[in-house]
Amino acid sequence: MKIVNPATEDVLADVELADAAEVDRAVERARKAYQGWRDVAPGDRARLLRRFAGLVDAHGDELARLEVANAGHTIGNGRWEAGNVRDVLHFYAGAPERNHGKQIPVPGGVDITFQEPLGVVGIIVPWNFPMVIMTWGLAPALAAGNTVIVKPAEWTPLTALRLAELALAAGLPEGVLQVLPGAGEVAGARLVEHPGVAKIVFTGSTEVGKEIAAKAAAQVKRVTLELGGKSANIVFADADLEKAAKTAPYAVFDNAGQDCCARSRILVQSSVYDDFMARLAEAVRGVKVGDPLDESTEMGPLISAEHLDRVRGFLTGTPYLQGSCPEGKGYWFPPTVLTPGVTDRAFTEEIFGPVVSVARFEDEAEAVQIANDTPYGLSGSIWTRDVGRALRVARAVESGALSVNSHSSVRYWTPFGGFKQSGLGRELGPDALAAFTETKNVFISSE
Ligand code: NAD
Repeated sequence: MKIVNPATEDVLADVELADAAEVDRAVERARKAYQGWRDVAPGDRARLLRRFAGLVDAHGDELARLEVANAGHTIGNGRWEAGNVRDVLHFYAGAPERNHGKQIPVPGGVDITFQEPLGVVGIIVPWNFPMVIMTWGLAPALAAGNTVIVKPAEWTPLTALRLAELALAAGLPEGVLQVLPGAGEVAGARLVEHPGVAKIVFTGSTEVGKEIAAKAAAQVKRVTLELGGKSANIVFADADLEKAAKTAPYAVFDNAGQDCCARSRILVQSSVYDDFMARLAEAVRGVKVGDPLDESTEMGPLISAEHLDRVRGFLTGTPYLQGSCPEGKGYWFPPTVLTPGVTDRAFTEEIFGPVVSVARFEDEAEAVQIANDTPYGLSGSIWTRDVGRALRVARAVESGALSVNSHSSVRYWTPFGGFKQSGLGRELGPDALAAFTETKNVFISSE
């Protein structure tokens, strides 16, 4: 498949796609490698992961530029992402020496628990944050003693392939981490169906996630699902309006809105609606869209022509406001603000582009009701100076990762994941290890 730079439409690489037979061979290799990897002494496994992290650090600029070229990320974001890959590898490198079982005294003996690895883990990755999302799965999986096969998204395999090379260079044994570019319905589907794969970590659309969950259920295969979102950014009248309005565009237009945590619904209390909209308009007009390699650029292109068409399809009437974007080659779409009704498609469906819908509410109860009126529940923000209200609303919103007076979604040492149809299970933080191990209980009689 020809891999294209979405900002220029230049061809970057020609990548071979794996078919089902190649997936089968990869699973065989991974199963063989598992027999050795699970028994590598914890300190040695930790050292290999740290060496891998060290190589990612040394190649950080290269990885950042590759992600910029392949996924259209801004260079600032690319650098943050390369740093995140390094940090997540270091974080889980601490696990092999600490992730122990327990001993539990019981009548007539003792129970000992072991945290056993699962075997081969398949990680299916979307195109919006290719290298960080694959790492959130592979780092805890490898640390816990599993072997891993990554299937990157069709459009964005380049950083995944480079990371696999760096893992080999760091000394990870062959077969411990494999990357197989391939079509979702072919290579992805085979990974899900293969009885030799113990677990699937899937990040992508809710539609495909449901299909994967159903297929996995037939084998009682373990799954972690990170799916779509339509998160609310709730602005109360007592908030720091200037800060809330200035930051709101970045909470949805970052990565051109191709972010599962995008706060793509802004809910504003009626009494400050006009004031907020005036400030928001100024902030949106100021968003700098253009060459992702320019240090001052704040937003790049969409991933593909196909996706650009999909995003355009959400604009039926005249937008409330549109910023500007380059013309000519590349898949550009301007930052766009809509004021649809709360039942309109633009307000209810995940657009996955730089489009935000704004609605007003009267009181706390109505804000919570609108925020929760969605099958999704991934992220969200609450802007208020009243700490009691912040807590009440945070407890009432059905969402996995909320922030108060901030738009932060991901801190790798804390749990991340969705309520409702935004997902199943949690990634990141120390608890993610549990998703890559089984607890085995052995009773030893003292009689
Ligand atoms: P997608 O579901 O189309 O594809 C995701 C991955 O699944 C790709 O690698 C694709 O090849 C593969 N795939 C497709 N069909 C498959 C099948 N039948 N069997 C197995 N694998 C298959 O999603 P996308 O368009 O690449 O990504 C965008 C979506 O991802 C958005 O909905 C977004 O919200 C979501 N997302 C969620 C998170 C999160 O953490 N919750 C993070 C990033 C993206």
